[in-house]
Amino acid sequence: MHLDMQTMSAVNVTVTAILGGVLLFTWARERESPFVGWWGLALATMSAGVLMAGGPATPRADFLTLGMATIVLSDALKWKAAKEFAHGRARLLWILLGPVGFLLAVQSGYLHSFHQRLGGLCTILAVYNFAAAFALSRMSDEDLSSRWPAVTLLIVIGLGYLSWLPLDLAMPINEAPWAFASVWFSTVILLTLLLRIALAFIVLSMAKERQELEQRVEALTDALTGLPNRRALFEVADALGQDRQLKGDAISVLIFDLDHFKQTNDRFGHALGDRVLKLFATTASVHLNGTSLIARLGGEEFAAILPGADPLEAVGAGEAVRHAFAKSAAFVDGLPVGATVSVGAASDVSIAGDLNALFRRADAALYVAKRAGRNPSTEIPARSSSVSANPN
Ligand code: GH3
Ligand code: MG
Ligand code: MG
Repeated sequence: MHLDMQTMSAVNVTVTAILGGVLLFTWARERESPFVGWWGLALATMSAGVLMAGGPATPRADFLTLGMATIVLSDALKWKAAKEFAHGRARLLWILLGPVGFLLAVQSGYLHSFHQRLGGLCTILAVYNFAAAFALSRMSDEDLSSRWPAVTLLIVIGLGYLSWLPLDLAMPINEAPWAFASVWFSTVILLTLLLRIALAFIVLSMAKERQELEQRVEALTDALTGLPNRRALFEVADALGQDRQLKGDAISVLIFDLDHFKQTNDRFGHALGDRVLKLFATTASVHLNGTSLIARLGGEEFAAILPGADPLEAVGAGEAVRHAFAKSAAFVDGLPVGATVSVGAASDVSIAGDLNALFRRADAALYVAKRAGRNPSTEIPARSSSVSANPN
């Protein structure tokens, strides 16, 4: 099958413009994913570039060059979009270097024949596509699987552009109309168009996946302290309980409850109360080791899971947090707040045991600690593996 260049070009321009429009519309509607907007702009630019370069049956040399430079700009914008998605920064210099460099190279006569221009164009386009693939592949902070098809397609497109170079050496093309009339050229254009369509859909699915991930993180995060919330804690607890590899390990849990926090609010105001809660979250995060998970259960109650910790280690960790918090919350914003926390701890020899029962025991230990807090002598709960601690 051989499509003539005019038809191919019209299809290419229209489909690319529609895709660009869809992406720009999606971005304008939600304003949440700037990279979708950049990708849409890249596609709109590509459509304009193809229109200039391949529209007329016999393109004028200056239009052809301008069209080629616009196509380079389009892939530079695609790279900008990929950097945006990866939370990176694409410098304006690097975006403009490709298209402006190409124009200058043509103007200065460095790329004077058509096949040299095509070679230059393909090389620059390949570089931008590889750079976009590299930017997407390097994101390590977010586990977004939909970016991998995008990385693959960008590499395929980049290799496709590079494949032009040896082909061009084997059979140099010196006239634009000759090139445009070749079966090879229209096949390449059709393939790149199909890849472009596929990439546009992948870009939309990347945006959707990120939104879903953000919503999930939001649903599992406490808005005030930024700590995981109760739901997140119990999801982790369930996952730990089902982890066969950890089956033989011990586990401890700690439950923290700020003391007389109602009075803290009453005396210093709710806003300061909020700051004390945040202070506790930071203190506990700093003083619990990396394998522990601290979460806000709600109100002024927090809980931590300590995988692998025996009762002694659990008490040590609880005490460390309790002392550190008493110290850091003695004065908050220059006010003598003197906030303290009570801790209940419970341990089990196996992580695969009943974690709900473990939490109930830690809660009971906390209750003991609270009672002891109103009485100088420290009470130890009846169960030997439950430990209580209070600030007094
Ligand atoms: P106890 O020592 O027995 O734990 O006494 P308490 O005053 O800490 O306990 P109580 O359950 O009576 O009061 C908890 C207080 O925590 C009441 C509520 O106003 C406050 N609180 C809950 N959530 C928040 C919050 O997000 N911000 C602030 N500032 N206060 C909160
Ligand atoms: Mg409470
Ligand atoms: Mg309390």
